[in-house]
Amino acid sequence: MLISSNEILQEARKNGFAFPHFNYWDDLSIKAELAAAEVKGLPVILAWAQKHGPQISIEEALNLGKFYGSRAKVPVVLHLDHGTDPELVKWGAFHGFSSVMIDASNEKFNDNVRITRDVVKYCHHLGVTVEAEVGHVGTASADDSTTYTEVKTAVEFVKETKVDSLAVSIGTSHGVYKKGRPKLNFERIKKLKEAINVPLVCHGGSSSGNANLNEAAKSGIAKINIYTDLANTALHVAQKMTYDTEFELLKAQRSAIQVMSEHYYDVFETAKYSY
Ligand SMILES: [Zn+2]
Repeated sequence: MLISSNEILQEARKNGFAFPHFNYWDDLSIKAELAAAEVKGLPVILAWAQKHGPQISIEEALNLGKFYGSRAKVPVVLHLDHGTDPELVKWGAFHGFSSVMIDASNEKFNDNVRITRDVVKYCHHLGVTVEAEVGHVGTASADDSTTYTEVKTAVEFVKETKVDSLAVSIGTSHGVYKKGRPKLNFERIKKLKEAINVPLVCHGGSSSGNANLNEAAKSGIAKINIYTDLANTALHVAQKMTYDTEFELLKAQRSAIQVMSEHYYDVFETAKYSY
């Protein structure tokens, strides 16, 4: 069953846990992530990112998401991640994504507001939930610095855009960290949670450290995005062993992605969710 993200994220926000958001890039990854959700008996957010378009087109991703999502034994949020093109985001919402992210966080504040507000208006008519981002979550490998989201800015942004959930910058980065674990600003998470009533989203969850992510969920983050760890575990399976058949390799990769996905349900304490 496909659902929008509003209800489940509001409950996570109130009760100090988070839902995992897993990016998928083919049928193998979406099947593995969904299997993890079904083992846990919990809802899942399955996401296609616009930047993965060269690997898997929006049409392919949408069809995979609808196919597996509608047959799933758990509620599935089909999410369009990091949509930087407003027209593509609207197209996705119209054609079946139940949740979208419009990412204009690279723009100036007023332009981010204008672009986000326009997408929110369109998507709310369709019953599709919208996530946007203020502050900037950088890329770990590119020295692209991350700046913490200011509380005042977040309050104004939510008020002006009527967005359903907000990606905030609290110390994580996209990709693999060059050294050690990032330093997350839990105080900022708590202050943001007190100041705004929409669920907060943490991007770049991969390799941020289990204790860090658990604390982030308890402090007020309702959704944590995981991609790199899933892709890397599939890569490592292929690198570390040789396989006699293609099917054996695929099976090992699928199993590794599922194990990693189940792990994050535990770290985020998603089992606190009650239907
Ligand atoms: Zn992200």
